[in-house]
Amino acid sequence: MMTFCPLQEAIHKMWTKQLCRNVVLCHLKRWTRTHRHVRPWSPLSTVRAASSAHGAGILGSLQVTHGDHVHIRDVGHVEQVLRNMVAGGREKLQVISDFDHTLSRSTYDGVRCPMTHDLVKDSRFISESDQKKMCKIWQYYYPKEISTTLPLQEKIPLMVEFWNKIHDIFIASDLTRQAVRTIVQESDTRFRDACDVFVNVLRKNDIPLLVFSAGVGDVIHEMFEKHGLTIPNCHVVSNFLTFNDAGKVVGFRDPLIHICNKNRSVLPDHTYSLKQQERTNVILLGDSLNDLQMADGVPNMDRILTIGFLSRHVERLQDFTEAFDIVLVQDETMHVANAILGKIVGSDG
Ligand SMILES: [Mg+2]
Repeated sequence: MMTFCPLQEAIHKMWTKQLCRNVVLCHLKRWTRTHRHVRPWSPLSTVRAASSAHGAGILGSLQVTHGDHVHIRDVGHVEQVLRNMVAGGREKLQVISDFDHTLSRSTYDGVRCPMTHDLVKDSRFISESDQKKMCKIWQYYYPKEISTTLPLQEKIPLMVEFWNKIHDIFIASDLTRQAVRTIVQESDTRFRDACDVFVNVLRKNDIPLLVFSAGVGDVIHEMFEKHGLTIPNCHVVSNFLTFNDAGKVVGFRDPLIHICNKNRSVLPDHTYSLKQQERTNVILLGDSLNDLQMADGVPNMDRILTIGFLSRHVERLQDFTEAFDIVLVQDETMHVANAILGKIVGSDG
């Protein structure tokens, strides 16, 4: 039997381990080449599998852990909800999401991104004097909109006033159907990074997406179309313009949707709810505490996982962490939502 001094033994062990690693990697790469149609190999999937094997929980396996920009109030609760959602799979799942600064980016290069109302308000189709009027309206009502101390019964009439004042200016302007298209085409609108991945997984797995927005529905439709994210299983509930025969804006469809009534009470009919009544697991995405009511009235809801994006006003982190299951601070991507969705739909999703 060969004997080694301690140094020789250490070198021999390192060499053997490296050789083994190389052999395994070589086989793995060859297997991946010949079985590419079965499942693409990625270092991330290996990390996930290894992490699960060590009992790190679903969040651990997804590399979503509390810390840095991810804040989770109750990890045990989130794990429990995720276990049930994974067991329920794609057939039990539906997604409800806000649009402005949730599916769309909140900031880009440190600059706030416009919301759907902003795009119209700041466009060349609105006169300078009307833009100034709207800025004043915004300055007065916006602090009330984000107030967490203003009682709801006082906030609701203020929000109705807010939206109606802005909409009246839109209606009095020379805005047309074509102008709305042009506004979006000419704008530098952006969805969150990897939002296309999120939407495509929903499309591929026939998972319905309800977009609930107090913004401008026509702008949302145009944005989905511009970015190639139109999907048949997406339903947008928002403030849609009405036009006369000449294509000029003459009003808004009822009901008015503002931040305080984004719930089933404003769904145009019950068809959507009835179609989804077997889908008892809900992922809810929002960037406002008011977005949490979007799932109110979902029939037969069993589990809900709420994900809140907090990009500005980070001083509100505690409020957000108490309200949402997962809070993502200054994260302009859909990576966390994509990891969770991928886990629920399975490896072939
Ligand atoms: Mg929003």
